[in-house]
Amino acid sequence: MKVLVIGNGGREHAIARALSADPAVTALYCAPGNPGIAEVAELRAVDALDPAAVRDLAVELGVDLVVVGPEAPLVAGVADPVREAGIPVFGPSRAAAVLEGSKAFSKEVMAAAGIPTAKSYVCQSEDEYNKALDEFVGFPYVVKDDALAAGKGVVVTEDRDEALAHARACGRVVIEEYLDGPEVSLFGITDGAAVVPMMPSQDFKRIGDGDTGLNTGGMGSYCPLPWAPEGLTEEVVDTVIQPLVDEMRRRGTPFAGLVFAGLALTAKGLRVVEFNARFGDPETQSVLAMLESSLSELLYAAATGTLADVPAPRWRDGAAVTVVLAAAGYPGTPRGGDAITGIDEAEKLDTVVNQAGTKRDAEGVLVTSGGRVLAVTAVAGDIDAARAKAYKGVAAVRFDGAQHRTDIAAKATA
Ligand code: AMP
Repeated sequence: MKVLVIGNGGREHAIARALSADPAVTALYCAPGNPGIAEVAELRAVDALDPAAVRDLAVELGVDLVVVGPEAPLVAGVADPVREAGIPVFGPSRAAAVLEGSKAFSKEVMAAAGIPTAKSYVCQSEDEYNKALDEFVGFPYVVKDDALAAGKGVVVTEDRDEALAHARACGRVVIEEYLDGPEVSLFGITDGAAVVPMMPSQDFKRIGDGDTGLNTGGMGSYCPLPWAPEGLTEEVVDTVIQPLVDEMRRRGTPFAGLVFAGLALTAKGLRVVEFNARFGDPETQSVLAMLESSLSELLYAAATGTLADVPAPRWRDGAAVTVVLAAAGYPGTPRGGDAITGIDEAEKLDTVVNQAGTKRDAEGVLVTSGGRVLAVTAVAGDIDAARAKAYKGVAAVRFDGAQHRTDIAAKATA
């Protein structure tokens, strides 16, 4: 199978890494990719947001499968012309990707399908903001940009002025009930009908230790979740992901690709915090490190409507922990151009380093070029051992201004 991966982040590095180790994959391309992905796939230049350009590249390469990593190309509709050209694609159509592209749409679908989520209001005027905030007095306010914001469009605050300021800055927002409880990310691979769940994981959204500071795209992750209630995966499939997939099909916009359910386990039961239309990052880096069976088989089956025929994935024993290293300035404006060293040393310590915001400068030196620069993932017999190994890897990687959290997965087994 010849596969083309679209994207250039840590998630795509993890996907490309898994595909390159998959015996069924005979050729692997990535566009546009990054210097880390170049070590496992042949890179091609492409504007990932240009659907015709992605299709032309897939046709030129003669690939059997296109895997679209990030949300922005999906929301731009890159999957559609590829599918129309007869090439199987892992990733929802433009119409189905609205699930992630609009929080208001996602809320409406959940209501229609009876999926448990926070009570919410779509608001776009001062009057509407205030009415909605009034309803949630006494709890932290939750204000979400209706549009895509790379994980940074949500403000959770007890300060009403801050909540209002965020609403004004965004325009159209969803204001919703605060959900109190541990968060879980569960990925469901689907062909539009059948659902295959992956392993539950958790990510760490805030920049600072102890979940302090600003929200980010994610500073680390681990899986599995030893504290998760028994039967959680089945419950999420039965009450959340399968009803969603059925509702999208019923509407004539079947969702084939990855449903990322962000969940809160509240005192009143599980609630959906959000849906995304693609693999989560950095959770994917931990989850795919645990996958023992073929990734290409699952993705191809999802892309071709044959998922019901594929055996359930097999997982490694133990646990995986991923720690992100971010550039100086992140999650504000990240500084670029800092030289990165020590990736080989980290990998000699039995870790894998997935690159995200990296590039080679004019002299060929690997330098920072983005907010989340790279991430170190380790697999070991249990979470504490994986955590210790991942942090040894982190200590080996160096660049000026590097920031990382020191408490990823620290309380997972406490
Ligand atoms: P989202 O982009 O919707 O995943 O939101 C980003 C983060 O904001 C989530 O992972 C949560 O930590 C937090 N968040 C979002 N919605 C809520 C909510 N209703 N209650 C509490 N926290 C929330």
